[in-house]
Amino acid sequence: MPDIIQLLPDSVANQIAAGEVVQRPASAVKELMENALDAGSTSIKLIVKDAGKTLIQVIDNGCGMSETDARMSFERHATSKIRKADDLFLIRTMGFRGEALASIAAIAQVDMKTKRVGDEVGVHITVEGSEVKNQEACFCPEGTSFSVKNLFYNVPARRNFLKSDSVELRHIIEEFEHVAIPNPDIAFTFHHNNAEVFHLERGSLKQRLVAIFGKSYDTRLIPVEENTGIVKIKGFVIKPEFAKKTRGEQFFFLNKRFIKNSYLHHAVQSAFAELLPKDSFASYFLLLDVDPKTIDVNIHPTKTEVKFEDEKAIYAFLRSAVKKSLGQFNIAPSIDFDQEAYLFNIPSKPADGIIRQPQIKVDTNYNPFKVEYIPKEKPSERELSNRNNWEKMYNANKDLQLQQKVEKDEEPEQQTINADWDNDARESSSKLSYQLHNKYILSNIKNGLMVIDQQGAHERILYEQLVEKIENHKSATQQELFPKTFELNAQDFEMVKELQPELEAIGFDIRELGKNTFVIHGVPADTADYDSVQLLEGLLENYKQNLQELKTNKHENIARAMARNMAVKAGKALTQEEMNNLVDELFACKMPYHTPSGNPTISIISIDELNERFNK
Ligand code: ADP
Ligand code: MG
Repeated sequence: MPDIIQLLPDSVANQIAAGEVVQRPASAVKELMENALDAGSTSIKLIVKDAGKTLIQVIDNGCGMSETDARMSFERHATSKIRKADDLFLIRTMGFRGEALASIAAIAQVDMKTKRVGDEVGVHITVEGSEVKNQEACFCPEGTSFSVKNLFYNVPARRNFLKSDSVELRHIIEEFEHVAIPNPDIAFTFHHNNAEVFHLERGSLKQRLVAIFGKSYDTRLIPVEENTGIVKIKGFVIKPEFAKKTRGEQFFFLNKRFIKNSYLHHAVQSAFAELLPKDSFASYFLLLDVDPKTIDVNIHPTKTEVKFEDEKAIYAFLRSAVKKSLGQFNIAPSIDFDQEAYLFNIPSKPADGIIRQPQIKVDTNYNPFKVEYIPKEKPSERELSNRNNWEKMYNANKDLQLQQKVEKDEEPEQQTINADWDNDARESSSKLSYQLHNKYILSNIKNGLMVIDQQGAHERILYEQLVEKIENHKSATQQELFPKTFELNAQDFEMVKELQPELEAIGFDIRELGKNTFVIHGVPADTADYDSVQLLEGLLENYKQNLQELKTNKHENIARAMARNMAVKAGKALTQEEMNNLVDELFACKMPYHTPSGNPTISIISIDELNERFNK
């Protein structure tokens, strides 16, 4: 038998290695931008076409390369950043593996122009599928310009695997931000299909964050700064009242490298502790600086995970630094007389200036055991249809009990339901609802007590209405008298653009106003009481959360997000009429018993159960 093992040709080996380094256009963006940083640039330009599928170009004004280095840079394991194994522990640069250019050149058509500071002429190299196609002297500015065309042109399986432009662009924006945030002393621009996505001047970290995330961040940021022997901490946390329900804005940078670390996240989250609303996450932009000797970034090629020598100490420092800032800026529970005025909500003097003793009014005719008298008039059409719904409510009782029995694997017993309704009893009981803790609606039903979760019920009602509106395009829009602008970060802006048809279907009229901004011209007709910007923000927040948690289509997701956003919240007092309407509309739903996310909306405590409790 002949020997069968052969060394792979470089082009194949590079293509395999590329699979690790370049998963999508955003990975190439990250590598090229990091190279530009390592070259000591003060200005970096990113130009992208078709979400990086057609072109990714990075132009820097860094140190440039000699002719030989330019040629060498495409070889695998060719790097100027380390020379021996020990150097791995001294790394201050972003790159060090010498893999990126070789990988990119294996799966794309690459065009590089570079010139060192002081050199007369530069060099222009074209590489395609690891093969150098052309090399010549050229006139070009100092620095390096790198064009990556037709990524994965020779790996069709990979190319087909890419997501929509909108998704790929969001990944690119994410990588761009990871590089731009910790480097505010470098100017960046980013163009996509000839439109400017970012234009970031040199400035402070705060200015950088505001330039990326929008003007509203100016007043949301609380500075954090702490220098210890082990770690230098610098950056900002977001005021707790602006905390988000998605894990969107959590940025740790270790020696200017974006990292993910759930242990350190916990340190920040716990520093906020009870300041955060339930189910919300702290947002932060924190730059940690440690001696490279005490970390190991060599774990993963994409390098977002890092091993620390002294993780516990860093945890403790981080937590106390954030706590200190929250305290200093009057966010921690210390009373601040300017900000917490509501604690001293003393009623103002009456108009006539005379202060009288408080009086208690007693209705001596009130009899708590008397059932409210409701005159029997001819019922209106609406009332008639309501009655049908209330009948459904009784059946709900039946259905629920049957359901519960089936769930318990018991034989359903028909006799639990008394179908022989007493009309009067139904009417009187149906008209009386009681609100418990501004959260639950209690209704007397024949078989016991029905408890409805007001928020869940409302969510179900709105959800079904919205799904119908989206599918039939028949929602009404109320035009805003004073259109408001809605400013977003670049990623969210892309998302809203993608969702525009669905948003229009539910009644929003929003139009793009240049960079990262929409103008809200109209809102769904039944949301006139809401602040339109808050409404859209909340909608987006819920939508993003759904994206992480569920696999639903866009229509359903939008309907869910909007329903959650608009539903009356626990804590809202409802009038008798509002309660009745809510119950009524709930039972007009196709699936009244659960919220769109599957939580129960109704629970029934049967008379039998109560009897048992009272030993009857
Ligand atoms: P690494 O960054 O890990 O060293 P790369 O494959 O990304 O590996 O780059 C190889 C080498 O090419 C770098 O070490 C650097 O010397 C050179 N290089 C790459 N991009 C640039 C650039 N924009 N400016 C100057 N030199 C560069
Ligand atoms: Mg590199």
